[in-house]
Amino acid sequence: MTGELQLTELLIDGKQVPAADGRSFTVLDPSNGTPIAQVALAGEADVNQAVAAARAAFTSPEWAGMRAADRGRILYRIAEAIRHQGERLARLESWDVGKPLRQAKADVEAAARYFEFYAGVADKLGGTTIPLGPGLIDYTVREPIGVSGQIIPFNYPLQNTARGSAPALAAGCTVVLKPSPEAPLTPLEIARIALECGLPPGVLNVVPGDGETGAALAGHPDINQVTFTGSVPTGIKVAQAAAANVVPSVTELGGKSPVVVFADADFDLALGAVAASAFGNAGQTCSAGTRLLLQRGAEEFLEKLVSHAASLRIGPGLTDPDIGPLVAARQRDRVLGYLDVARQEGATVRVGGAPSDPALADGYYVEPTVLTGLTNDARCAREEIFGPVVTVIEFDDADEALDIANDSPYGLASYVWTRDIDKAMRLAEGIRAGQVYVNATGVGTGVELPFGGYKHSGWGREKGLAGLDSYLQTKNVCIGFGSRS
Ligand code: NAD
Repeated sequence: MTGELQLTELLIDGKQVPAADGRSFTVLDPSNGTPIAQVALAGEADVNQAVAAARAAFTSPEWAGMRAADRGRILYRIAEAIRHQGERLARLESWDVGKPLRQAKADVEAAARYFEFYAGVADKLGGTTIPLGPGLIDYTVREPIGVSGQIIPFNYPLQNTARGSAPALAAGCTVVLKPSPEAPLTPLEIARIALECGLPPGVLNVVPGDGETGAALAGHPDINQVTFTGSVPTGIKVAQAAAANVVPSVTELGGKSPVVVFADADFDLALGAVAASAFGNAGQTCSAGTRLLLQRGAEEFLEKLVSHAASLRIGPGLTDPDIGPLVAARQRDRVLGYLDVARQEGATVRVGGAPSDPALADGYYVEPTVLTGLTNDARCAREEIFGPVVTVIEFDDADEALDIANDSPYGLASYVWTRDIDKAMRLAEGIRAGQVYVNATGVGTGVELPFGGYKHSGWGREKGLAGLDSYLQTKNVCIGFGSRS
């Protein structure tokens, strides 16, 4: 990536500003560890300022007085501007996060789709009337909840910025968004683009920072709602901080999603999807299918997956390989630590299992890895590794597959591959997870589909029409008229 980075300050009330205390942090290129940007680090004072700007904007004539259709038009313009600047945004995302360029381009399209999808509903958020009989009229109004505090992780900054802010803005809320310190660049760009597209100042503020910045936002007494995406331990802290102010939260947390492959599945169809789900974004995807539940008799599928993994090209994201580096040294070390655990637990490493070749030693790479010989009790089958690692577990029949699939603290996504409708429906009915895909995965960009967790994968839903619920509250109005007995 070449070219000057323009935006490395906070974006508060429509202006780029340094941190009040002058602090900043360095963002590294995950493919070689060199600095790529110096970004202002928001402290408590900056969070206070951003929340105050969002609070003022929430009731301002420019935003609160805007017709819903005009809010929608702004969101449409943002979608088009994201597409128009797509090549630059994709390169920035790839450079910052390390993901292959074509995956970053898919993220750009998803970000545009979020704004487009929610643009279309901005003027359709009507309430209902409730029949109470003569002399009474009762109706509901769906009002924006207020200032939304949004905290996002490092793995999909473009998508997560759009996924939370687009429905909030469509509903008429204002937003303060805190990106991850490991991937703060494209969220700032989206906010800048939104301003250019006519979003009034203060409606979307971005405050890059660390855990302290996030804590200041989550526990801020003047926000009305929190949308958190990240790990379970942080999600618990964020939900507790919000609850202390009687503020509702959406928590989109981790996963250990099962991929159930029956012996009768179309292996060729399944292979690309299973590999993309496990190894895409170097396995740093909350909904990644990282537990491969393989029916005894389907060993041919395992062989196909192993040779596919061995053939994947590893390299810097901007060279558009099949697999890029992990986002940071700490993330690579975490994954390598899990591979040590797997070996101690008796796993056979069928492919991968190491950092990449010495030519890439400065980057944070881990080879795509397939582990066999473990049961569902192994740590690598229960804990979220967040790297390109698949743990294979064998089963005999649909009932056993269902038991193993549900034997997890998580319940985010799940994938079933079979040509037998009865087995497919047995699993779709019984799996306790927010999403079940049968002979499909990641349909389109998934923007239209409600997404969220069962169990420790969190609560609340983002995406689709369900994603609007977090940003709206219902007011009931009951009016009596005339003379009533
Ligand atoms: P993380 O929990 O470490 O950090 C997430 C965000 O929270 C970051 O912006 C971080 O700075 C902030 N934060 C840290 N401490 C905080 C605190 N005390 N209060 C408030 N904010 C704080 O997660 P990560 O390593 O950035 O991301 C990986 C995790 O995110 C994985 O568990 C993954 O499954 C999850 N994830 C979930 C989804 C989903 O939709 N369910 C999507 C993407 C990622």
